[in-house]
Amino acid sequence: MKKPGKVYLVGAGPGDPGLITVRGKSLLERAEVVVYDYLAGHKLLKHAPASAELIYVGKKGGVKHTFSQEEINQMLVEHALAGKMVVRLKGGDPFIFGRGGEELEKLHAAGVPFEVVPGVTSATAAATYAGIPITHRDYTASVAFLTGHEDPTKESSNIDWSKLSTGAGTLVIYMGIKNLPTIVANLIKYGRDPQTPVAVVRWASTPQQRSVVGTLETITQVVTDAAIKPPALIIVGEVVKLRDTIDWYEKRPLFGKKIIVTRTREQASELVAGLEDFGANCLEYSTIHIKPVDCYDILDSELERLDEYHWILFTSLNGVKYFFEHLYAKGMDARDLKGTDLAVVGKSTADFLLTYGLNADLIPSTFTGEGLAESLLDQGVEGRNILIPRALQAREILPETLRGAGAQVTVAPVYENCPAAGDKESLREELKNGGVEMITFTSSSTVRNFLAMIDAADQDELQQILSGIKIAAIGPITAKTVTDNGLQVDIQPKEYTISGLIEAIVDYYGGDGA
Ligand code: SAH
Repeated sequence: MKKPGKVYLVGAGPGDPGLITVRGKSLLERAEVVVYDYLAGHKLLKHAPASAELIYVGKKGGVKHTFSQEEINQMLVEHALAGKMVVRLKGGDPFIFGRGGEELEKLHAAGVPFEVVPGVTSATAAATYAGIPITHRDYTASVAFLTGHEDPTKESSNIDWSKLSTGAGTLVIYMGIKNLPTIVANLIKYGRDPQTPVAVVRWASTPQQRSVVGTLETITQVVTDAAIKPPALIIVGEVVKLRDTIDWYEKRPLFGKKIIVTRTREQASELVAGLEDFGANCLEYSTIHIKPVDCYDILDSELERLDEYHWILFTSLNGVKYFFEHLYAKGMDARDLKGTDLAVVGKSTADFLLTYGLNADLIPSTFTGEGLAESLLDQGVEGRNILIPRALQAREILPETLRGAGAQVTVAPVYENCPAAGDKESLREELKNGGVEMITFTSSSTVRNFLAMIDAADQDELQQILSGIKIAAIGPITAKTVTDNGLQVDIQPKEYTISGLIEAIVDYYGGDGA
């Protein structure tokens, strides 16, 4: 017998992909079919398995619907009856102005089993992210959610303005931008003080969030002047005053700043997460893809005589990662490094090494190849055997300096930096459209590969494409690669680490990087 399908109606939350529930995310991770709306964050789709069928059913206020409600209902029924695990992803909470109830009635009628997962509705998210507690003991003990979507010419409204205007302390109105003048007029007509504060919040909980504040009397003009369009929520009530003290989201130092992060696909997350914590809107472009080298002969034969080495030098996280993969593959482990001293290029590499159970014996005070060479020379390297597991193409300064001082150095290539394919078009598009604030570079190869991706015809075009965009480089070597290419570095941290870079960027905008 065919296994029965099921539909999970899941609240996606208001936009910030971190605001989906744990239950919602785990269902997405198992979905075979995902049916999603305009407001149900695209960023959440990455949780679905690559094999899942993703179906966009549109529904953008005012714009022609991609599918009718009837077609959506039918689609859910068909996939479920075909035995599929279907996630119906809806913006905010499915039962708050989301037609979730209607879809489930249809599923019930068709005999399709279902479950519902609530979501963070945009009303509470907009209030929270605009710094407005929708209830507060000093101001109000009641809040009402209403729709402003009703046809204003409709004879009998479902909303009894005469009762609602003064019936709840705080009013949060969904889908009300188009009818704002009528809504405001009704509220004043039925007794709400024209001086009542009002906030309008667009794209709440996303880097595009925008809030404006006025009173019932002024808000229509304020919204027109600021050109606020849907999706937006209207919050009416004395609690709006608290925004002056509580606004936190839009006040973060990097709020709304579009920052391009160029890193390897494998390693971008730490920088992105750090910048996003300060409010940045990060666009990730992987300019480099890390892959194993074709031939591991050098490393494999050196591992046989590991006990002859006095030092192993790790100049990158990937050097550590691939070294240990091969060590383990040979049936060896950390105990085989007992007699060998370990040096790293910087703090992040030291931290990473510790995850393999090993403390670095030497971390230079300057986190570069030169810094590492200098610290080793201070220790005396003459006649010492030194192994460097590293990238296939890398600067020769470290091995050369050490050899010059009398060391026996073996370089074992363990991974390769390749330019990452794809995304070229969208990168050029982003840069052309303007609005990009900054580009971050974390190694010379990210600079070179980024420039290759931009593919400017000449220096003039490059300057023009990047004009007004600030450049942050992790350390002096990366910075030199930037300046060697005729560009200027605006930000460079004192400590050449990802957290140092984040701190320098935040400092640049006058925030406290703590
Ligand atoms: N079920 C959804 C609401 C769907 S109705 C929920 O619980 O949030 C669509 C309306 O929700 C939009 O017109 C807008 O008023 C509001 N909305 C949804 N997401 C929003 C967001 N991120 N910022 C501001 N308003 C939003």
